[in-house]
Amino acid sequence: MANKGTCKAKDCDKEAVAKNYCRKHYRLWKAGEMPKPRYKICTFEKCRKPRFRQSLCEEHYATETGKGAAPAPAAEAPAPAA
Ligand SMILES: [Zn+2]
Ligand SMILES: [Zn+2]
Repeated sequence: MANKGTCKAKDCDKEAVAKNYCRKHYRLWKAGEMPKPRYKICTFEKCRKPRFRQSLCEEHYATETGKGAAPAPAAEAPAPAA
């Protein structure tokens, strides 16, 4: 047998087509819906989306570059004056 083996997704024994996933699970994997994705995730704090550009996901990349409609984070309270 010279195929790539079977899908590594849980409870799936279909033939793997890419990344050790079957066609269906590979699609999910690309969509970021599989656990333990092998791609890097966004470096933004508490963000676990797949990276889009540089080290950020699409949303945060848009935020950082000002190309998106996402508003700047307003959670940064000024440091209290001592
Ligand atoms: Zn599968
Ligand atoms: Zn992000």
